[in-house]
Amino acid sequence: MRERRADIGAERKSPYREERKFPEPTICPRCGLVYLGGGWQQAKGELPKEANKELCPACRRETDRYPGGIVYLSGGYLWAKESEIMNIVKNQEEQAKAKRPLQRIMWVERKDEGIEIATTNQHLARRIGRAINSAHAGALVIKQKAGENFVRIYWEREG
Ligand SMILES: [Zn+2]
Repeated sequence: MRERRADIGAERKSPYREERKFPEPTICPRCGLVYLGGGWQQAKGELPKEANKELCPACRRETDRYPGGIVYLSGGYLWAKESEIMNIVKNQEEQAKAKRPLQRIMWVERKDEGIEIATTNQHLARRIGRAINSAHAGALVIKQKAGENFVRIYWEREG
Protein backbone atom coordinates (compact mmCIF):
# COMPACT_ATOMS: atom_id res chain seq x y z
CA MET A 1 0.00 0.00 0.00
CA ARG A 2 2.83 2.33 0.78
CA GLU A 3 4.21 2.01 -2.75
CA ARG A 4 0.83 2.77 -4.19
CA ARG A 5 0.58 5.97 -2.22
CA ALA A 6 4.00 7.12 -3.40
CA ASP A 7 2.87 6.58 -7.00
CA ILE A 8 -0.23 8.64 -6.56
CA GLY A 9 1.78 11.44 -4.98
CA ALA A 10 4.23 11.40 -7.87
CA GLU A 11 1.41 11.58 -10.35
CA ARG A 12 -0.08 14.54 -8.56
CA LYS A 13 3.14 16.46 -9.04
CA SER A 14 3.63 15.36 -12.63
CA PRO A 15 4.11 18.27 -15.04
CA TYR A 16 2.04 16.28 -17.57
CA ARG A 17 -1.04 16.13 -15.39
CA GLU A 18 -3.92 17.84 -17.17
CA GLU A 19 -5.62 18.90 -13.93
CA ARG A 20 -2.55 20.79 -12.78
CA LYS A 21 -3.30 24.40 -11.83
CA PHE A 22 -1.58 27.36 -13.48
CA PRO A 23 -1.71 31.08 -12.73
CA GLU A 24 -4.40 32.79 -14.79
CA PRO A 25 -3.97 33.70 -17.51
CA THR A 26 -1.11 31.46 -18.68
CA ILE A 27 -0.24 31.19 -22.37
CA CYS A 28 1.50 28.20 -23.89
CA PRO A 29 4.22 29.70 -26.11
CA ARG A 30 4.33 26.56 -28.25
CA CYS A 31 0.70 25.94 -29.25
CA GLY A 32 -0.97 29.20 -28.17
CA LEU A 33 -3.54 27.66 -25.83
CA VAL A 34 -4.58 29.81 -22.88
CA TYR A 35 -5.19 28.64 -19.32
CA LEU A 36 -8.29 30.43 -18.06
CA GLY A 37 -11.18 29.50 -15.83
CA GLY A 38 -9.32 26.46 -14.55
CA GLY A 39 -8.62 24.86 -17.93
CA TRP A 40 -6.70 25.09 -21.19
CA GLN A 41 -8.62 26.46 -24.16
CA GLN A 42 -8.22 27.98 -27.61
CA ALA A 43 -7.41 31.67 -27.35
CA LYS A 44 -10.34 33.92 -28.21
CA GLY A 45 -9.69 37.52 -29.16
CA GLU A 46 -6.67 39.44 -28.01
CA LEU A 47 -4.23 37.85 -25.60
CA PRO A 48 -3.42 39.66 -22.38
CA LYS A 49 0.15 41.01 -22.50
CA GLU A 50 0.87 40.29 -18.86
CA ALA A 51 0.11 36.59 -19.10
CA ASN A 52 2.28 33.96 -17.47
CA LYS A 53 4.08 31.82 -20.09
CA GLU A 54 4.44 28.10 -19.61
CA LEU A 55 4.15 24.98 -21.73
CA CYS A 56 0.74 23.34 -21.53
CA PRO A 57 0.71 19.67 -20.38
CA ALA A 58 0.22 18.44 -23.98
CA CYS A 59 3.18 20.41 -25.36
CA ARG A 60 5.30 19.22 -22.48
CA ARG A 61 4.52 15.65 -23.44
CA GLU A 62 5.27 16.44 -27.08
CA THR A 63 8.63 18.08 -26.43
CA ASP A 64 9.63 15.30 -23.99
CA ARG A 65 8.21 12.56 -26.26
CA TYR A 66 6.36 11.22 -23.22
CA PRO A 67 2.98 9.91 -24.40
CA GLY A 68 -0.09 9.21 -22.28
CA GLY A 69 -1.18 6.43 -24.62
CA ILE A 70 0.12 4.21 -27.41
CA VAL A 71 -2.07 2.55 -30.02
CA TYR A 72 -0.45 -0.24 -31.98
CA LEU A 73 -2.21 -1.39 -35.16
CA SER A 74 -1.21 -4.54 -37.02
CA GLY A 75 -2.33 -7.37 -39.28
CA GLY A 76 -2.72 -7.86 -43.02
CA TYR A 77 -6.14 -6.19 -43.06
CA LEU A 78 -4.54 -2.97 -41.84
CA TRP A 79 -2.53 -2.58 -45.03
CA ALA A 80 -5.55 -3.33 -47.21
CA LYS A 81 -7.58 -0.61 -45.44
CA GLU A 82 -4.79 1.65 -44.30
CA SER A 83 -6.16 4.97 -45.61
CA GLU A 84 -9.67 4.30 -44.24
CA ILE A 85 -8.28 3.36 -40.85
CA MET A 86 -5.94 6.33 -40.72
CA ASN A 87 -8.91 8.58 -41.56
CA ILE A 88 -10.68 7.26 -38.47
CA VAL A 89 -7.58 8.09 -36.44
CA LYS A 90 -7.53 11.66 -37.78
CA ASN A 91 -11.26 12.17 -37.27
CA GLN A 92 -11.12 10.92 -33.70
CA GLU A 93 -8.30 13.32 -32.95
CA GLU A 94 -10.18 16.25 -34.51
CA GLN A 95 -13.33 15.47 -32.53
CA ALA A 96 -11.46 15.04 -29.26
CA LYS A 97 -9.33 18.13 -29.76
CA ALA A 98 -12.33 20.36 -30.50
CA LYS A 99 -13.60 19.81 -26.96
CA ARG A 100 -10.37 19.03 -25.17
CA PRO A 101 -7.40 20.73 -26.83
CA LEU A 102 -4.88 18.80 -24.71
CA GLN A 103 -5.87 15.55 -26.45
CA ARG A 104 -3.57 15.23 -29.45
CA ILE A 105 -1.68 12.75 -31.54
CA MET A 106 2.05 13.02 -30.93
CA TRP A 107 3.33 10.77 -33.67
CA VAL A 108 2.33 8.13 -36.18
CA GLU A 109 5.19 5.77 -37.03
CA ARG A 110 5.64 2.54 -38.92
CA LYS A 111 7.11 -0.02 -36.56
CA ASP A 112 8.00 -3.54 -37.62
CA GLU A 113 4.74 -5.01 -38.91
CA GLY A 114 2.43 -2.27 -37.74
CA ILE A 115 1.67 1.37 -37.12
CA GLU A 116 2.28 3.04 -33.76
CA ILE A 117 0.21 6.05 -32.76
CA ALA A 118 1.22 7.99 -29.67
CA THR A 119 -1.24 10.31 -27.94
CA THR A 120 -0.91 12.95 -25.23
CA ASN A 121 -3.80 11.45 -23.35
CA GLN A 122 -4.92 7.94 -22.50
CA HIS A 123 -8.56 8.68 -23.29
CA LEU A 124 -7.70 9.63 -26.86
CA ALA A 125 -5.79 6.36 -27.30
CA ARG A 126 -8.80 4.38 -26.02
CA ARG A 127 -11.13 6.38 -28.21
CA ILE A 128 -9.05 5.67 -31.34
CA GLY A 129 -8.83 1.96 -30.55
CA ARG A 130 -12.57 1.65 -29.96
CA ALA A 131 -13.49 3.64 -33.08
CA ILE A 132 -11.30 1.50 -35.32
CA ASN A 133 -12.61 -1.68 -33.77
CA SER A 134 -16.26 -0.67 -34.10
CA ALA A 135 -15.81 0.18 -37.81
CA HIS A 136 -13.47 -2.73 -38.66
CA ALA A 137 -14.09 -5.44 -36.08
CA GLY A 138 -10.78 -7.07 -35.14
CA ALA A 139 -9.07 -7.92 -31.89
CA LEU A 140 -8.78 -5.05 -29.43
CA VAL A 141 -6.66 -5.37 -26.30
CA ILE A 142 -6.33 -2.59 -23.73
CA LYS A 143 -3.48 -2.78 -21.24
CA GLN A 144 -3.16 -0.46 -18.30
CA LYS A 145 -1.51 -0.96 -14.94
CA ALA A 146 -3.53 0.05 -11.90
CA GLY A 147 -2.70 3.57 -10.79
CA GLU A 148 -0.77 4.35 -13.95
CA ASN A 149 -1.72 7.23 -16.17
CA PHE A 150 -0.60 5.44 -19.33
CA VAL A 151 -2.41 2.99 -21.58
CA ARG A 152 -1.35 0.60 -24.34
CA ILE A 153 -3.91 -0.37 -26.95
CA TYR A 154 -3.36 -3.20 -29.40
CA TRP A 155 -5.59 -3.65 -32.41
CA GLU A 156 -5.08 -6.44 -34.90
CA ARG A 157 -6.93 -7.92 -37.82
CA GLU A 158 -5.56 -10.40 -40.30
CA GLY A 159 -8.15 -10.76 -43.04
ZN1 LIG B 1 0.86 23.95 -25.69
